[in-house]
Amino acid sequence: MIYKRSSALFAEAQRYIPGGVNSPVRAFKAVGGNPIFVKEAKGAYLYDEDGNKLIDYIASWGPLILGHAYEPVINAVIEKAKKGTSFGMPTEIETQLAELAVSMVPNIDKIRFVNSGTEACMSAVRLARGFTGRDKIIKFAGCYHGHSDSFLIQAGSGAVTFGSPNSPGVTQGTAKDTLLAQYNNLESVKALTAANKGGIAAVIIEPIAGNMGCIIPDERFIKGLRELCTQEGILLIFDEVMTGFRLAKGGAQEVLGIDADIVTFGKVIGGGLPVGAFAARDEIMGHLAPDGPVYQAGTLSGNPLAMSAGLAMLTELNNRPEIFSSLADKTKYLGEGLAQVLKDNNIPFQMNRFGSMISVHFTDEAVVDFETSAKGNNNTFKKYFHGMLKEGVYLPPSAFESYFLNDALSYQDLDDTIAALSNIAKDLK
Ligand code: PLP
Repeated sequence: MIYKRSSALFAEAQRYIPGGVNSPVRAFKAVGGNPIFVKEAKGAYLYDEDGNKLIDYIASWGPLILGHAYEPVINAVIEKAKKGTSFGMPTEIETQLAELAVSMVPNIDKIRFVNSGTEACMSAVRLARGFTGRDKIIKFAGCYHGHSDSFLIQAGSGAVTFGSPNSPGVTQGTAKDTLLAQYNNLESVKALTAANKGGIAAVIIEPIAGNMGCIIPDERFIKGLRELCTQEGILLIFDEVMTGFRLAKGGAQEVLGIDADIVTFGKVIGGGLPVGAFAARDEIMGHLAPDGPVYQAGTLSGNPLAMSAGLAMLTELNNRPEIFSSLADKTKYLGEGLAQVLKDNNIPFQMNRFGSMISVHFTDEAVVDFETSAKGNNNTFKKYFHGMLKEGVYLPPSAFESYFLNDALSYQDLDDTIAALSNIAKDLK
């Protein structure tokens, strides 16, 4: 494949935008080479500026669960845009999306819309602090909750990809209020709660940890976490920015059968436009301004274009819930196909998979937390990423990310992806 125009566009972008990108993981730093500039996308495929066609396993990092340029979403946005793009006043569509979201997700009464997953998680933590009157939070090493200061403590995703899980610029004062536990290790949480009795406002967790390569919580851990939080008066925040409206109508809460106290959303809920949200029972949401004292606001929050995209997306998922199981079936098919090729070629790997999220780790050891996730062979990953790209398959350019399957992918696309791996497998050693 030729990337002449992408390379030229990247060179130009670097003159005006730090690193040439507006979000670091796009820069291909972890895998080497230049990022690909996309021109347009439809269904399961990306078309880049050089005319290459790629099967897309990122789907804009999760939002596009129904594929690119999904017509009901696009049409809803176009119609809405004709009537004005932003008012800074209440609109009916905000309530329609809120009502639908509340009806789909267990255990929430009210939802507040913001503009990103970062904002959602940041606001959820403030709300938890305001509700409990406590300062500290617990997060898990390798989980990513956006780029707000409190979360850049052993963060996963792009932060770890670029060697900055603890970012300069986060003050000691902020960092000391974020306590770090180990995923799938309840004892590590118990030790922190015991040492900080009555001081912890919230535990925030990715219920499926997409940002360190699709790590699944073991049952004892996640149930124990719920019980511990209840016992200690700590709010359990499920960061469902990735998993919300992707794993099931009710997200990870529904699939795992665990009730969270606050849930955060992003990605799918905006249908590809910038939307985040946080939600909880009345008793907690009542603490938010203007009803309560915890302040949170946004000029473009509840933006009509974004709401129309979200409403079209959730309506579709609500009406066709079989999409979730069909996506899980496709993901299983893909995972098993890729695994077979790797086995046949004696390449050590772990295939972590849950619903429509999947990640390949090039290691012998089971990947259950940040430490084991970091053991993947990065050289093999780089060869894998670039090899697949040459074959026309676009995977996340970081070993710590999950792939997000979308409904537009056909079994032929999956077979082509498995065949692509067969073509390059001998070069991975
Ligand atoms: N939480 C999780 C689990 C995420 O995966 C992300 C982004 O990838 C965020 C929060 C932050 O969302 P955003 O990038 O929309 O700010």
